[in-house]
Amino acid sequence: EKITIAIDGYSSTGKSTIAKQLAKALNYIYVDTGAMYRAVTLYAMRNGFVSENACDVEALIASLQDIELRFVYNDAAGFAEMYLNDENVEREIRTMEVSKLVSKVATIENVRQKLVAIQQKMGLEKGIVMDGRDIGTVVFPNAELKIFMTASPEKRATRRYKELLDKGEEVKYSEVLKNVEHRDYVDSHREISPLRKAGDAIVFDNSDMGLEDQFSRILDFANR
Ligand code: C5P
Repeated sequence: EKITIAIDGYSSTGKSTIAKQLAKALNYIYVDTGAMYRAVTLYAMRNGFVSENACDVEALIASLQDIELRFVYNDAAGFAEMYLNDENVEREIRTMEVSKLVSKVATIENVRQKLVAIQQKMGLEKGIVMDGRDIGTVVFPNAELKIFMTASPEKRATRRYKELLDKGEEVKYSEVLKNVEHRDYVDSHREISPLRKAGDAIVFDNSDMGLEDQFSRILDFANR
């Protein structure tokens, strides 16, 4: 019988890598909710609503109705890509610039309401793996399996740093570490839906664990 799997945790813990693998193995749908917050952030950046030292919350809220988000499955990539108003923004939402501003946008209540409603609709059918910060606490409080992923900030920053280098972005390790720590702070201290472990979530620290090991352990939880 198909279930709902919620994977939450700090940034760059490898949530999406594991969630994607898990969805593929179980033949479930995978939803990356971070991509949705990133897409709204990209929209806000392009329209001048958000920058490093300012955020026009009113203007962004007024424009929310003009933001259409959609996931489109890419066969070659093997996962669904993020579309913002019919444009594939999968690459653009992963930049350092978006990473620096996304936590600010994610504190806006109307933004969260809009995205949570879309996510809950996608979850009406069982057989879904969703990753984010508030999936086990807010989006699917009744999920049958909840995982809370964590790892040391240094391990996480190293992973993200390598990813960005591979994509050809010029970044400093220190800048990535600062961003990871900053996002974790903002995400866990915001007023609405702060990042925290759901009471019934399994804590999964993968600081010293390879991908295969992580995957087989989590698959075991799912098959229980
Ligand atoms: O998962 P990812 O690192 O791409 O998420 C980017 C940001 O989006 C997070 O740092 C957080 O501020 C926000 N987010 C959120 N709730 C979610 C998913 C992401 O607030 N469910």
